[in-house]
Amino acid sequence: MQALPHPSTLRLTRQSLPGSCEVCLAWTSGRLCPACHQRFAAPCNRCVQCALALPQGQTRCGTCLSEPPPFERCLCVADYAFPWDRLITRFKYQQSPELAPLLARCLLQAAMHDQAMLPQAFVPVPLSDRRLAERGYDQAWQLARCLARESGLPTHARALERRFDGRQQALLTRAERLANLRGAFAVPAPMGDFVRDRHLALVDDVLTTGATAHEAATALRAAGAARVDLWVVARTPAPQGQA
Ligand SMILES: [Zn+2]
Ligand SMILES: [Zn+2]
Repeated sequence: MQALPHPSTLRLTRQSLPGSCEVCLAWTSGRLCPACHQRFAAPCNRCVQCALALPQGQTRCGTCLSEPPPFERCLCVADYAFPWDRLITRFKYQQSPELAPLLARCLLQAAMHDQAMLPQAFVPVPLSDRRLAERGYDQAWQLARCLARESGLPTHARALERRFDGRQQALLTRAERLANLRGAFAVPAPMGDFVRDRHLALVDDVLTTGATAHEAATALRAAGAARVDLWVVARTPAPQGQA
């Protein structure tokens, strides 16, 4: 295995041109001004495996303790709430690829803050061909590409393929979502060497129930990945009263 760079040695290679902050419109050298970054991307205590916000002192949530997911660690920038919900909606549905470097940079900053062990490669959670044709735009690939460019680590658009979409997920419970997606992902034979014995980070925009990430990580592990982490921009918070 190759030696992993420590996050503190990571240098963000591309500086953004001056422009206005995507949130408060203040003039800034990046797309998110330092004040908004501090306010909206402030780290908080989270479950190490699924990034659910937790009270101080707790390291894993009840769900991850009782049913550990196939990913080792989840890294996120913030909860899926203002302004990340708006930024991600724009990024995903209004075809704003210029937001990808900002979101990737925020993720790398979260990794540096956490002193997270960097993966050896990034793997985007793939859309199905049908969904890609509808949307014309693969947000996880855009993110993975920017993460790779900023960190110097490799990525590949087709390291994982999505065989089917499953039914619409929105109204299903977590167990139903898992059943719905079983076998949805696979590592294509030519990508075997890219995956085998490697520490990988799956990349996606949002983590909600984790069913998609669960199935994608299971497919990578089945293909011989040594370890799978999950890097998402935003984590949907637990419903009220449920942590
Ligand atoms: Zn701002
Ligand atoms: Zn958890």
